[in-house]
Amino acid sequence: MRLFFFCVAAFTQPKVVDPGGPMKAPSDAVVLFDGKSAEAWTHPDGRAAEWTVEDGVLVCKSGSGDLQSREKFGSAQIHLEFATPDMPTVKGQAKGNSGVFLQGRYEVQVLDSFENPTYRAGSAGSVYGQHDPLVNVSRKPGEWQSYDFVFHAPVCAADGKVERPATLTLLHNGVVIQDHARIVKPTPGDDGTSVCTPGPLRLQDHFHPDVKDTRLLFRNIWVRGL
Ligand code: MG
Repeated sequence: MRLFFFCVAAFTQPKVVDPGGPMKAPSDAVVLFDGKSAEAWTHPDGRAAEWTVEDGVLVCKSGSGDLQSREKFGSAQIHLEFATPDMPTVKGQAKGNSGVFLQGRYEVQVLDSFENPTYRAGSAGSVYGQHDPLVNVSRKPGEWQSYDFVFHAPVCAADGKVERPATLTLLHNGVVIQDHARIVKPTPGDDGTSVCTPGPLRLQDHFHPDVKDTRLLFRNIWVRGL
């Protein structure tokens, strides 16, 4: 019998997945934005997305609010690309600020961190307020950049107690900048839902009183559940 199971295991092959390529998601990914429409997204209050799709790019409309995926996720591999606007007279946290909220509750900072010093745990690729990025590999404003996340959701007991916190490995422009970082709490301002429940991918419309318009661009967004 053991030989039988060994033989089955030996000849059962990993599932075949087309890996995709530049601007093409792997074949088993949930595609959230492929350049055509923002249909997979809403604002948190349920409004249809007011962010616009221009030349295959999702453009943040300042003042309209964050955008979140209709679908919710737990542990996942997530890919997205972004470009920060050119804001030569703006500095620090006001410059090209957005964010990617994993499960709608953990913000990974999006910021123009090219020659733009700020506090480390608020710079591009930080887990906001908790983990500095290991290095700064930011490109200039206007240039496309990528984030590749390997996110593990918290492991919880039946009573909702967190047994193992969330972890994140993040590649920014192909370079590891978070290495299995333990995320111990949601970013302040989360919606208060249990961290044991799945959540949407959320993109931030960052409000800053000094800046009326932050035209953040996003493209090629997909998720593979793990
Ligand atoms: Mg932000």
